[in-house]
Amino acid sequence: MTKYTVPRGTRDILPAEVALWQFVEQKAREIFRLYNFREIRTPIFEHTELFLRGIGENTDIISKEMYNFQDRKGRSLTLRPEGTASVVRAYLESNLHKQEALSKLWYQGPMFRYERPQAGRYRQFHQMGCEVLGAVSAYQDTEVIALAQHFFETIGLRGLEVHINSVGCPICRPVIKERLKSFLGDNLNNLCEDCRKRFETNPLRILDCKNPECNEFFVMLPDISDVLCAECKEHYHDVQNYLNIMRIKYMVNPRLVRGLDYYTKTVFEVISSHLGAQNAVCGGGRYDNLIQELGGPSIPAVGFAFGLERAVLIMQNQKVTVPGRTPYLLLLPLGENAGNRAAIFANKLRRKNIPLEIDISGRGLSAKLKTANKLGVRYVYILGEDELVDKCGQLKDMRDGRQKKIRFDKFLAEMEKKYKKDNRS
Ligand SMILES: [Zn+2]
Ligand SMILES: [Zn+2]
Repeated sequence: MTKYTVPRGTRDILPAEVALWQFVEQKAREIFRLYNFREIRTPIFEHTELFLRGIGENTDIISKEMYNFQDRKGRSLTLRPEGTASVVRAYLESNLHKQEALSKLWYQGPMFRYERPQAGRYRQFHQMGCEVLGAVSAYQDTEVIALAQHFFETIGLRGLEVHINSVGCPICRPVIKERLKSFLGDNLNNLCEDCRKRFETNPLRILDCKNPECNEFFVMLPDISDVLCAECKEHYHDVQNYLNIMRIKYMVNPRLVRGLDYYTKTVFEVISSHLGAQNAVCGGGRYDNLIQELGGPSIPAVGFAFGLERAVLIMQNQKVTVPGRTPYLLLLPLGENAGNRAAIFANKLRRKNIPLEIDISGRGLSAKLKTANKLGVRYVYILGEDELVDKCGQLKDMRDGRQKKIRFDKFLAEMEKKYKKDNRS
């Protein structure tokens, strides 16, 4: 039993799982580049005020999930619970909006929310996301949706579905809320306790409830899409039109709302279903008023984010495999003199960019060969004391078990040739 443990709601990501994380991160970077997004890096903490203003005071995040603290000068600071508010702050503070009409930015990093820990949900979690600032056209909504779908396809998730909805704007949202409230008001007894609270503060969020009893009851909800204002209706129509011409399959889901108050018009999720289980792997949408809310000019924007914990968990459940990161070669010297020779080889081959390991321990050959199997290396080069006299070693191909003598003076060139050939494909 160790004396120290990770804080509740956090976890260590051990090397075996890191391979999946690196794969996801690398693919995301490639996709962002394909769509011409540039990376932005912002601090992990911000002034508390930014999130109060940016996220909306009636959300769960603000009311009970923020990590707030005071620094030594009594400033109220908060560990970021999401990425968008910080990106918008940086965008305005650095005057990017005055330099370019359209800014396409992506970010990644840890986020912090004081939530009840459960499977795949942590108090420190990791997100990657992107924002299109200056997104006037409905095309930009579709491009973000296309990017998200493209990305999850690339990391090998199965059964992908795109769900879209429109949550309206400040003009039509009050009408949507009224319509919803008049229906729900007569049926409050059918709702869970959380939903009865949301009824007063944020009735739209009731649609998002995962409680099975609430879900049963939602089947009877009135359709709210017909109360959108003319502008929201047209925008929603245009987004669907672009999705159609780009041949991106989607489903209109009138119950889709997001946990953040700043969304306007388009909201979307990508769902991955496999073996009957349905999982939202990302969510996003348009936020036409946030930049102004945070003190900037009126600039429309759209973006999305996904959680790496969730993506990796779904990959594991769907048995997605990623290319391994095993050493190519293991050097097995037997005895001190052979060890010196192997150390020289290791140094030279690593500078030729060949990943390798050297087992310099005093163990016997059979124990060392077990390590080779465990590492999953392609080749083993055995340098015995006897062979030092002949200035050669035994190269063992771990795929077919065949072994052949290779002279020291030929070894470096031979390994380079083999590695190049194996990594050409
Ligand atoms: Zn509207
Ligand atoms: Zn509920």
